[in-house]
Amino acid sequence: MPKATETLLEIDLNALDNNYRYLTSKLKSETKVLAVVKAFGYGSDSVVVAKELVELGVAYFAVAYTGEGETLRNASIETPILVLHPLPVNFDTILNRCLEPSIYSRKMLLEFIAFAEVNKQTDYPIHLKFNTGLNRLGFDENDIPFIAETLSKTKSVKVKSAFSHLAASEDLKLKDFTLGQIENFRKISEKLTLKLGYRPLLHCANTSGIINYPEAHFDMVRTGIGLYGFGNDPQENKHLKPIGTLKTVISQIHTIEKGESVGYNRGFIAEKTTRSATLPIGHADGIPRSYGKGKGWVIIDGKKAHILGNVCMDMIMVDVTDIDCEEGDEVIIFGPSATAEELSAAINSISYELITAVSQRVKRVVCRN
Ligand SMILES: *Cc1c(COP(=O)(O)O)cnc(C)c1O
Repeated sequence: MPKATETLLEIDLNALDNNYRYLTSKLKSETKVLAVVKAFGYGSDSVVVAKELVELGVAYFAVAYTGEGETLRNASIETPILVLHPLPVNFDTILNRCLEPSIYSRKMLLEFIAFAEVNKQTDYPIHLKFNTGLNRLGFDENDIPFIAETLSKTKSVKVKSAFSHLAASEDLKLKDFTLGQIENFRKISEKLTLKLGYRPLLHCANTSGIINYPEAHFDMVRTGIGLYGFGNDPQENKHLKPIGTLKTVISQIHTIEKGESVGYNRGFIAEKTTRSATLPIGHADGIPRSYGKGKGWVIIDGKKAHILGNVCMDMIMVDVTDIDCEEGDEVIIFGPSATAEELSAAINSISYELITAVSQRVKRVVCRN
């Protein structure tokens, strides 16, 4: 790639290929892969990522909200799409765009069946979400008789899969809890299969579930963060490659004399002569304000340049006193060599939050490094 001359997010499809192959190398050959492309493909570009994954042979996509599934359909993606968090108001779009809803409550089940019947559907694919300990969305085990009885009275829908979500698959200190969730899911699946009279696809592993719990792979796995290059584990990160590099450029350099300040509310006051570089990226682009006053940094000429004062909406100023650089030079916020994991840890956050925060104002550039 040529050097950046403005703020942009580079998306490296070869890194995505690498991550897909690495994650699938952990699976039995018959295990299906569902790629989670919610939140603009974890802040990258869901359409670009999904199209590449179609080429790689992915079986399924998942998005959080219905509108995200619509975006994929508008881009002519025909792979099945599971909508993890639909609401009754979305049922029309779900049906019209052949999206497959996660059904997580009795109310949702009844309302979706009623809707499917009015619209003369048969065997419309639905996915039953079970709560096994995350306590976020999902049916309880004791909802199974209600589910089975309700489904026995209609031909409008068919259970394509049953799934659950692990609460702590990346934290091996909580291994007993996770093994309990997996066992719980296994029991629920058996009961459900018996009551339904057919066996839906079963899935409960996210990226860290794929890596840490082979017994949780079942028929399909759902990977998000791993595809984007993070394994929630230093050992795994060696095999994965961040697909996104957030870059910008130095707009202007100032010399700040002792006693002068930088930025809003005089957030930084120079104790000695300081060289400051102004960059065209701010909190409206995805640099949280909590990175201000030295907590966060960018990389210029391979060195850390810490943020001076407060993060502005459209700019940050960074300390380049000891860095050999000039106006027009490239700046890296995060990427394969300066990871989002390290930068996010500086404000007690996680890679997920930093990469998904890159706003839609930032230009996306696709490459194959
Ligand atoms: C977001 C999400 C995933 C993906 O998790 P990763 O840790 O990014 O792999 C899987 N399943 C559900 C239900 C999710 O909400």
